[in-house]
Amino acid sequence: MRQLDHFIVGGASAPAARTHKIWNPSTGEVQAEVPLGDAALLDRAVAAAKKVQPEWAATNPQRRARVMFEFKRLVEANKQELAELLASEHGKVVDDAHGDVQRGLEVIEYACGIPQALKGEYSQGAGPGIDVYSMRQPLGIGAGITPFNFPAMIPMWMFGMAIAVGNAFILKPSERDPSVPIRLAELFVEAGAPEGLLQVVHGDKEMVDAILDHEDIAAVSFVGSSDIAHYVYKRGVAAGKRVQAMGGAKNHGIVMPDADLDQVVGDLAGAAFGSAGERCMALPVVVPVGEDTAERLREKLIPAINALRIGVSTDPDAHYGPVVTPEHKARIEQWIDTAEQEGAEVVIDGRGFTLQGHEKGFFVGPTLLDRVTTDMESYREEIFGPVLQIVRADDFEHALRLPSEHQYGNGVAIFTRNGHAAREFAHRVNVGMVGINVPIPVPVSYHSFGGWKRSGFGDTDQYGQEGLKFWTKAKKVTQRWPDGGGDGSNAFVIPTMG
Ligand code: NAD
Repeated sequence: MRQLDHFIVGGASAPAARTHKIWNPSTGEVQAEVPLGDAALLDRAVAAAKKVQPEWAATNPQRRARVMFEFKRLVEANKQELAELLASEHGKVVDDAHGDVQRGLEVIEYACGIPQALKGEYSQGAGPGIDVYSMRQPLGIGAGITPFNFPAMIPMWMFGMAIAVGNAFILKPSERDPSVPIRLAELFVEAGAPEGLLQVVHGDKEMVDAILDHEDIAAVSFVGSSDIAHYVYKRGVAAGKRVQAMGGAKNHGIVMPDADLDQVVGDLAGAAFGSAGERCMALPVVVPVGEDTAERLREKLIPAINALRIGVSTDPDAHYGPVVTPEHKARIEQWIDTAEQEGAEVVIDGRGFTLQGHEKGFFVGPTLLDRVTTDMESYREEIFGPVLQIVRADDFEHALRLPSEHQYGNGVAIFTRNGHAAREFAHRVNVGMVGINVPIPVPVSYHSFGGWKRSGFGDTDQYGQEGLKFWTKAKKVTQRWPDGGGDGSNAFVIPTMG
């Protein structure tokens, strides 16, 4: 069995008092063990980060960008190995794991353009003989706490931006699939980054609390479930840090009567069941508008869902693989029980599914629930599994209210051929990211990613301009260079530019 270690300068000094097991979800076997660190270990990582960060911040942006370029090259060269490692711990199929790496790399590509993105603002002659300029400076040491479901992409969203602008970074990845984050950190050093600039500490709540309380960590970016996101936000802010904390989701797909249903069914199958539904931008709720649309959609969905192939993560023909842990499999099946007890119709039942030859794997069959209503707990809460719920809406206004009034507001999609309806929906819906005939509207790396309501605490999004803003602070300089003749100004009266 592989024993993982923290990736910090000097390595772990002593064997860990506590460890966490890492499954292979396809076989149901434990394949590795990761140490769970504590505040003392974090202190060592922070000390190393403090040593290296000032010099990195003083390195000109073009040289910093060269490290990002080389890192991009190395990740591309090692992509297959990374995708296979990722799939073996997470359970998603290898093709999908490639996407996980690729979407993170796209943020690294953005970070390669950091000299351009970091240019400041300048106003010449803002007053008599006075110029004003502003610049963005790094915060010092940033930390990232990431979820299990995108172990390559989300760490790269965070450290790609944080480090390119001049910070040192400490990553606390999910203890369920930490091997890819460690490999990324190794490749980062190979790319020419000084030791200590990117470190990886493992752990659970104890390590998260140590990060949130550490006085030398200036900012924390968190992605995970909403209750923990809220907790992280409150505790980090109370400790005087800058915090952004992205939470859970329950994304709706609105299907208007004029939508191309064949396209919708194809999109829904991938967006609801891809990665076994373990995506924060999955589409686990479909909202057909009108009874006729609901019936037509249901008729097409059933055969499409029954045709899905579930397989081990290395099966090239599988649409999706196992879920991440046995506990998560049990929780998803419990949610299906709850939905049934609440009165939902179980049209396709994925409970008790086993894959021949891999009976110990954590597989859940695709599940379709119809006649789901807003008073059901199974509708209000996130299931995070291969379960698609149909909530029937009477009309457009009703469909618009459903995602708008839901506690989560990460993503939403509308499927229609009517530009007016789509435009109206995009303007009025109370959700952070909207797709128009696009089932998974994750914005590209030069825009920014973030949900609303309980899907996002804090006021800045991930990556793009928003990420740049989060990981830097603005300095504003007002200058004058008097020529010695006196310009009559005095500071007894608050200076104006009048
Ligand atoms: P999680 O909340 O269990 O874990 C996230 C991180 O928090 C991990 O690093 C974990 O070690 C840490 N953690 C766990 N328990 C903790 C505690 N009690 N106190 C402090 N820290 C703790 O989330 P997960 O199961 O790894 O990931 C799935 C969740 O993440 C889903 O809710 C999903 O919607 C969400 N997610 C959201 C986004 C987004 O951008 N909004 C993206 C991906 C995933």
